[in-house]
Amino acid sequence: MLDRLRRWRRERILEREGIDPVLWQELMDGLPQFDGLEAAERERLRELASLFLHQKRLQPLDGLEMDAAMRAGLAALACLPVLNLGLSAYRGWHTVLVYPGGFLARHAYTDDAGVAHEEVSPLAGEAWEGGPVVLSWDDVERSLDLDGYNVVIHELCHKLDMVNGDANGHPPLPADMSLQAWTAAFSEAYAGLCQAVEEGRETFLDPYAAEAPGEFFAVACEVFFEQPAGLRDALPGVYEQLRQYFRQDPAHRLLRG
Ligand SMILES: [Zn+2]
Repeated sequence: MLDRLRRWRRERILEREGIDPVLWQELMDGLPQFDGLEAAERERLRELASLFLHQKRLQPLDGLEMDAAMRAGLAALACLPVLNLGLSAYRGWHTVLVYPGGFLARHAYTDDAGVAHEEVSPLAGEAWEGGPVVLSWDDVERSLDLDGYNVVIHELCHKLDMVNGDANGHPPLPADMSLQAWTAAFSEAYAGLCQAVEEGRETFLDPYAAEAPGEFFAVACEVFFEQPAGLRDALPGVYEQLRQYFRQDPAHRLLRG
């Protein structure tokens, strides 16, 4: 009975607020991240993105105006990681704030000598545990090609990671995955990256991923959806864990698309 009620509500929302199918088709054809998705997957993603826009409050700030195409495009990128996980993977938060450009964030930290500093620097995106995702629209637009940079996927994957607490590179895994295998693959790759960065060697992942295991996870996710074949070649263990976790195989899909 509850299930039927839930399905009925979901269908009512999609009827009233579903993203226009023509606009959706344009988005799917125009953005390379969606190449190779089958028609049924594109339709499922449209439903997820429509429900995402219903459930989350998308709030443009500082005079930014977001039309239906901008909202739908943002929701499409945000929902790509959860295509096979469902929107419940984004539980526990409600708001996406969007600034027109890089926004200033105050960041307090204490240095090794015990001195407290406050730093104000422009950011492309941010995700607060239990709080909002914050994005710069300029950086969302920079995320539309397949260069490995995608602030939407990056911040939303921090959210996946935060479902069970800190953004530490350990999102809750499904029962059929091994925590040990996950930890082994990620720890080895993270240590390798840190060493390469220290030695000044060229790395496949952006050196920013060496900041912390949580950043490594978010950067690996960006590349998983944007340059999957490269990630599979450079870090096959990490690719395999992400393939199992997301239940998607973008390297295979993008080849097909
Ligand atoms: Zn990050």
